[in-house]
Amino acid sequence: MTFSLLSASAHGGGTPAWAMLAYLVAGVFFILALRGLSSPATSRTGNRNGMIGMALAVGTTLVMHGTNLVEIGIAIAIGAILGVTIARRIAMTAMPELVAGFHSLVGLAAVVVGLAAWLNPAAFGITDAAGQIMAVSRIELGLGIAIGAITFSGSVIAFLKLSGRMSGSPIMLPGRHVINLGTLAAILVLIGLYTVSPVGGAGEGWMVIAVTVLAFAIGFLLIIPIGGADMPVVVSMLNSYSGWAAAAMGFTLGNTAMIITGALVGSSGAILSYIMCRAMNRSFISVIAGGFGADASSGGAGGAREQRPYKQGSAEDAAYMLEQAEKVIIIPGYGMAVAQAQHALREMGDKLKEKGVEVKYAIHPVAGRMPGHMNVLLAEASVPYDEVFELEDINSEFAQCDVAFIIGANDVVNPAAKTDKSSPIYGMPVFDVDKAKQVFFIKRSMGGVGYAGVDNDVFYMNQTVMLLADAKKMVEEIVKSLD
Ligand code: NDP
Repeated sequence: MTFSLLSASAHGGGTPAWAMLAYLVAGVFFILALRGLSSPATSRTGNRNGMIGMALAVGTTLVMHGTNLVEIGIAIAIGAILGVTIARRIAMTAMPELVAGFHSLVGLAAVVVGLAAWLNPAAFGITDAAGQIMAVSRIELGLGIAIGAITFSGSVIAFLKLSGRMSGSPIMLPGRHVINLGTLAAILVLIGLYTVSPVGGAGEGWMVIAVTVLAFAIGFLLIIPIGGADMPVVVSMLNSYSGWAAAAMGFTLGNTAMIITGALVGSSGAILSYIMCRAMNRSFISVIAGGFGADASSGGAGGAREQRPYKQGSAEDAAYMLEQAEKVIIIPGYGMAVAQAQHALREMGDKLKEKGVEVKYAIHPVAGRMPGHMNVLLAEASVPYDEVFELEDINSEFAQCDVAFIIGANDVVNPAAKTDKSSPIYGMPVFDVDKAKQVFFIKRSMGGVGYAGVDNDVFYMNQTVMLLADAKKMVEEIVKSLD
């Protein structure tokens, strides 16, 4: 959930009761939005509730402050045109980098608002009788600027890594834990000094600038050691940071809607990060501390590939084996999203069910490139929800299934996560496809690797047949053969 700073208002005096009520109602809509977004079946309603809540919060702020509607209208129109254009053009597979890009803007906005309030505190109503910034506002300002700057630079690195403009491999600086802890301690000490510094005392300015610069640096330092497979956790963590930055600025601006929304985004992002860490078998603390405890020897994208024998099959082979099966488990991954193969896949599932085959879909928590990516695509193709299962609910069933049908997934079925301590995905739970009697594995070529960039033993197992083609074309051919 992204947050609009347009709901920010200048502090100027107490908020009238009607506006407080409107903000409260907006807050309820935001909570309903989060509730709705927790399931694909209710996600549209959730989205709509979020939009109503945001419109109410923005509208209330504009009316309350008698804002110049022409100026603000032009700004909103420019933002809306940019937003609609980007949303229409963006491919589903590029969504995580777009989200990271948007988070960086939230962080930057928090920094800019914080600096503006510091430079012109009277305009923000955060001064005391002597015209100085109040101590409590100094804490809010310092924290808001620091969290905003960390969110900005961290999100920029996440954007660069996710979009492939920067290597996805972890970059481990020597002594990084000491540097990170030292920088964080310096930021906190500076905020403390700024809060208690003599009113109008000399040197106040450099403290704010130093906090800003150090926070930009720590955002960069925290995200560069994060390796490929942990990026989903980082994106949701930055989402959480962006919420806290907005909440801190809400205090500075005296805007209740911003505080409520920021806290909701911050806490829901933190809960999502925690859930994803548990699903990935990662320590929450280690990820938020910037790869703390990660093994510097972990390989990344582009590791050496072995030449090993494998079996290759055709759509006809796959169709024959699939219709003979009693139970088929389909594991979709990023490649299904790239190929947009979900509709053809549903058709294949329907045909198999007509032939009396039991069909289930198995979703890994980090399959694809954003949380819930596969659920969204399968829902779009009208795959019944009761056929879709989470990793922990279905993993034990591979031992009793005739065919594991892997379509565009790779890292999430890689047994190296269970056995190879030097692998960047080591420790992440994966599907036990090696227990299935037969495995079909769709990918375009043997040269391609998954996001973590490592080889996969499943390609070379006795029971695996590689189906090397674009996922959509391959599944369409299987559907034809099933006819
Ligand atoms: P992977 O990225 O591991 O593998 C994708 C597979 O799809 C590759 O084998 C690729 O091989 C194949 N593929 C790509 N395009 C096509 C196509 N058109 N037709 C057929 N196959 C295709 O995907 P997984 O879903 O298994 O794993 C997700 C990975 O992404 C994890 O490492 C996860 O940590 C990471 N990640 C997840 C995020 C999330 O929030 N879910 C966010 C960021 C990263 P080939 O090129 O040969 O076709």
